[in-house]
Amino acid sequence: MRIGHGYDVHRLTEGRRLILGGVEIPWEKGLLGHSDADVLTHAVMDALLGAAALGDIGTHFPDSDPAYAGADSLRLLKQVTRLLRSHGWQVGNVDATILAQRPKLAPHIPAMREHLARCMGVEIEQVSVKATTEEGLGFTGTGEGMAAHAVCLLEKTGS
Ligand code: MG
Repeated sequence: MRIGHGYDVHRLTEGRRLILGGVEIPWEKGLLGHSDADVLTHAVMDALLGAAALGDIGTHFPDSDPAYAGADSLRLLKQVTRLLRSHGWQVGNVDATILAQRPKLAPHIPAMREHLARCMGVEIEQVSVKATTEEGLGFTGTGEGMAAHAVCLLEKTGS
């Protein structure tokens, strides 16, 4: 088994859609980025790649590459999962935390887990997503941005 950790941050801005775990959340602001800026999915991908010691999303999907402009991060997660499989890894479990002052994310978490699980080819019970505020402190507290942490366990498939 291998453990991995991922962390990501994106700035909040007006005129962008807010996508977390592939779920579009109605909100006055969205996350800024080259792709869809899905901070949760990015942290998950970095955890997976980290566990396999296969670099990070910046090396696999460089933001200088126009191919990834506006990219659906769930699609990239599927690619990461395929890459892991080709190296003999399968996902054991993922646990992630989104840091955001607003909006309330709890109603959207089941859909996020479902999307992430489907893209990684695992059951929803293997994917945990949590959300917390930082009590008004720091850049997430002021609403300047959102962050996400993720840890995962990979298991060798033997292939
Ligand atoms: Mg990112």
